[in-house]
Amino acid sequence: MAKKFYITTSIFYVNSPPHAGSALEMVQADVLARYHRQFDEDVFFLTGADEHGLKIFKKAQELDKSVQQLVDENTAKFKDLTKVLNLSNNDFIRTTDQKRHWPAVHKIWQMLNKKGDIYKDKYQGLYCVGCEAYLNESDLVDGKCPIHRKAPEILEEENYFFRLSKYIPKVKKIIEKDELVIIPKTRKNEVLGLIKQGVKDISISRTKENLVWGVSVPNDDKQICYVWFEALCNYISALGYDSNDKKFNRYWPADVHCIGKDILRFHALLWPAMLLSAGLSLPKKIFVHGFITSEGQKISKSLGNVVDPFELVKKYGTDPVRYYLLREFASTEDGDFSIKRFKERYNADLANGLGNLVSRVLALVEKSGIKNSESGILNQGINKKVKSIQKNYKKALDEIKFHEALESIWQLISFCDEFIEKNKPWELAKTDEKKFKLIILDLLLALKEIAGLLEPFLPTTSEKILAQLKQNKKTEALFPRL
Ligand SMILES: [Zn+2]
Repeated sequence: MAKKFYITTSIFYVNSPPHAGSALEMVQADVLARYHRQFDEDVFFLTGADEHGLKIFKKAQELDKSVQQLVDENTAKFKDLTKVLNLSNNDFIRTTDQKRHWPAVHKIWQMLNKKGDIYKDKYQGLYCVGCEAYLNESDLVDGKCPIHRKAPEILEEENYFFRLSKYIPKVKKIIEKDELVIIPKTRKNEVLGLIKQGVKDISISRTKENLVWGVSVPNDDKQICYVWFEALCNYISALGYDSNDKKFNRYWPADVHCIGKDILRFHALLWPAMLLSAGLSLPKKIFVHGFITSEGQKISKSLGNVVDPFELVKKYGTDPVRYYLLREFASTEDGDFSIKRFKERYNADLANGLGNLVSRVLALVEKSGIKNSESGILNQGINKKVKSIQKNYKKALDEIKFHEALESIWQLISFCDEFIEKNKPWELAKTDEKKFKLIILDLLLALKEIAGLLEPFLPTTSEKILAQLKQNKKTEALFPRL
């Protein structure tokens, strides 16, 4: 049986429509899914929508809409974005899905409860609605949540608690030993630092007086599951935990959870502890990306610098947007979206680099009458270069460094350009037909290689290159200059 590969994005919080950060996470996960499919692995790629919680409830009130209407509208936009960005996801889970998601949440709850890991207690704490989490005094900066820059509310209620602290020593060991790999290392250290500060048990429910929009707690109609507790379950509910054992056993555990840096602690502490308590295997890797700023500033509606991925794609096409997000900044760092940089990258790398090489080679092919199906012997040094590029590319993707994998493809493109300059095939055509033919065949094989390496990143472009190669001629410009 083929090896399985299960990759997820986080589920997107649908209190507002998608932004550039959502697009980044989507395309990052898509690259890994497509890359693993190239090895004939049985890939399951999941994305979805997180539709519960106080923040969404309040947003709906603010907009004078029903909560269901708000989540339906925004979730539809995230689904659209998966299409617009040409994602190859196999599924899209919604946490309002009462048939798929809720039963799995209830089952997990019951598993934890059976273990004696759930208890009732009174709790008073500082609650940040933006984070959907209780904060410690020590988390605050000037009395405010450092992320949302708002003073937290004081909430007091009797809730159910999960014995998170009981599992922390084990989680710590698992992370230290890289049985659960956290990429990059700085994020691993961040989690270990949080553990060092001390991790307390966590409230995993809210009274219905304070929150009505969510999954009810089993056998207690006065309480609703805490949104994080329930949202994390999407990774198993989508596989049919509690309804489809075959599928669940096939794909679980996740090979990679792709997430943003702001939700690391839920994925690296709470989620593994829940799984340990339920007796389920742990995910193998958590890949953490940074935030996107716009023109050097934090993206905010009031600044009017929101990057709309739909508009970008409409204007420039899907592959250039994917390219920018994956190439412009290091995969695990914060990155900036700047239209000026976008255009520079487009013209330099896509139009002049890749597009120009493809059209140059195909013009030579057309002139030579050589068919790309003719077999060539790589003898002009391209073979060696291709091998070393393949090695760098694989290493970069195994370490989840998208920008480095792309950089290696562009090294091959530059190499081909130099190869053409050096060998001057247009002169050889007149003086040495045999050598001319070999040069062209070398270039054709390099182009095919480039198309293959590009596929996970720029799937449509890759397809277009292969289609033109099949016809032995240039049929369209890949990237018209801006
Ligand atoms: Zn906050």
